[in-house]
Amino acid sequence: HQEPKIALITGSTSGIGLAIAQRYCEAGFQVAMHGMENADQAAPALAIAGKGAKHAPVYFQADLSDNAQSASLAPAVIQQFGRIDILVNNAGIQKVQPIDQFEYADFNRIVQISLDSSYHTIHAALPLMKKAGWGRIINIASAHGLRASVNKAPYVATKHAVVGLTKGVALESAEHGITCNAICPGFVLTPLVEKQVRDQAQAHGMSENEAIKNVILAGQPTKKFVGLDEIAEMAFYLCGDWARSITGTTISIDGGWTAK
Ligand code: NAD
Repeated sequence: HQEPKIALITGSTSGIGLAIAQRYCEAGFQVAMHGMENADQAAPALAIAGKGAKHAPVYFQADLSDNAQSASLAPAVIQQFGRIDILVNNAGIQKVQPIDQFEYADFNRIVQISLDSSYHTIHAALPLMKKAGWGRIINIASAHGLRASVNKAPYVATKHAVVGLTKGVALESAEHGITCNAICPGFVLTPLVEKQVRDQAQAHGMSENEAIKNVILAGQPTKKFVGLDEIAEMAFYLCGDWARSITGTTISIDGGWTAK
């Protein structure tokens, strides 16, 4: 494969995606960053990821809850860089609510942003990876791709589906030098989780620190948040030739959550 490696990371203006973008820039990859914000709003994230980078990251805006924009994202990256060598499907949202109160529009938004967008990016990138005889697809699923929690059924369903997509794509691409894996983090302190901390504190009438200790981290045996660096380093590891036989699997980084 040619250098630099071209990497598209969806939802890389914040949290886990931004940490991976930073790690990939540091590794000398040409990173295509993505978010739903406009270019001005995304500029601080690009500055963080691109600091000292050999290849400055380039930004692509698309609202992944809109099917047409979702389908256009990977083709836009391919148009600019000729191919995608590394694809990280990271964009995702959460909504915590009992399923009998969940509106279809909210359910569908979760599915579209995580699952449908992964279909679209894989569908566009895979033929060129096959042609090159090399590729890496990394889907950021969740411990909820392997286990359930109450009031998160749409998210749990979507993440289980992402794990299924991972396995199917791995089988179809295994003979082409392409791997496809799902990283399954436990709780990482990002804006997505900060919102849950606030919501849980309010729902249980406790302070945010109590909500972290008694609710959020109750199921995470280490009782500590997983660090962004842990996810970013694994996402980098999977890109190496040393990881060529790791495919179709889930990699838990969850402080022991799924040991139970
Ligand atoms: P985050 O909220 O910090 O970042 C989410 C990213 O997705 C942002 O870049 C945002 O722009 C993008 N995004 C959201 N809605 C979008 C839309 N409509 N169109 C385009 N982009 C959109 O969240 P995070 O915690 O970094 O989560 C990243 C991924 O990791 C998600 O798939 C999440 O489910 C997964 N995950 C997170 C945790 C955790 O504890 N934080 C645990 C397991 C899995």
